[in-house]
Amino acid sequence: MKTIGVLTSGGDAPGMNAAIRAVVRTGCESGMRVMGIRRGFKGLIAGDMYEMNLRSVSDIIHRGGTMLYSARCQEFNTEEGVDKAVEVCREVGLDGMVVIGGDGSFRGAADLSKKGIPCVGIPGTIDNDISSCDYTIGYDTAMNTIMDMVDRIRDTTESHHRCSVVEVMGRNSGYLALNAGLAIGATCILVPEIKLDIEHYVIERMRRTQKTGKEHFIIIVAEGVEGIGNVDAFASYIEKCTGVESRATILGHVQRGGSPSVRDRVLASEMGNRAVHILINGIGNRIVVSQNDKISDLDIHEALRMKKSIDLDLYRIANEISI
Ligand code: ATP
Repeated sequence: MKTIGVLTSGGDAPGMNAAIRAVVRTGCESGMRVMGIRRGFKGLIAGDMYEMNLRSVSDIIHRGGTMLYSARCQEFNTEEGVDKAVEVCREVGLDGMVVIGGDGSFRGAADLSKKGIPCVGIPGTIDNDISSCDYTIGYDTAMNTIMDMVDRIRDTTESHHRCSVVEVMGRNSGYLALNAGLAIGATCILVPEIKLDIEHYVIERMRRTQKTGKEHFIIIVAEGVEGIGNVDAFASYIEKCTGVESRATILGHVQRGGSPSVRDRVLASEMGNRAVHILINGIGNRIVVSQNDKISDLDIHEALRMKKSIDLDLYRIANEISI
């Protein structure tokens, strides 16, 4: 392998820059040329790339976002799009590629691998929704951001004896909501994976704690939870049922940004290094994963087939002690 490419794709996540840095430095130190591809698969198809060196990735380990920019690319979902990308790789002489992103990006990486460009994926997504991986890059930082933000909301919620309904990211996955919800002591946590009777779970729980003297409440809702309408409507419903003045806050994109945590920087550095070592051996169609605090790698299709369920015991603990 003489030349490899690196790109970031899908939603950005804090720590992607640390992963790019690890890929570039490991590649250069192993005697390879490393091409940085801008705007994910979109940039690959357009040939938008430049040669990086050890200094190209100086001063980025602490920065959120991605210095290579990210994009979603419809064209790459088609066979013609993938063929175009392969053509560009052949023209530029890219022998392999590191793809930093989520499961959609890995399907793209698998397509490219199948067509003869070995690709290794690195899970960079705040949702932690990669089935084979305990921790994805950006997840820890996002949880800490949510915790900081909700701690602030708690100050004012407590002062006014209110209920705050806080929506956090997670269309299909409740990892952020569950772990951050437990960390901030939310009275109720709603996640897409667990269908609940809202009246019984939220309203009854609030009434029960009111009787023990509790006067302010935090309810964490993952954005993918169905059956409650939007969070404003949900807050009004809670107010109507309990008599507690209720306000909704959507944390939104603040959860994606910011300087990555220690855990994300270390994870990104380990994963970036591992990805290049896999490519050096000429192997593709793999993703780097973190399992039981160890870094390893798996076949992309095998990894994507695995099921990841929410930690029900953690949910039980949250419910048992946040009362
Ligand atoms: P996140 O979930 O964090 O946003 P992601 O990588 O899952 O990250 P997607 O938007 O699903 O984000 O995918 C990113 C890009 O990967 C798509 O825009 C597309 O170019 C490519 N991609 C997605 N699915 C496929 C697929 N089935 N085959 C080929 N390429 C795909």
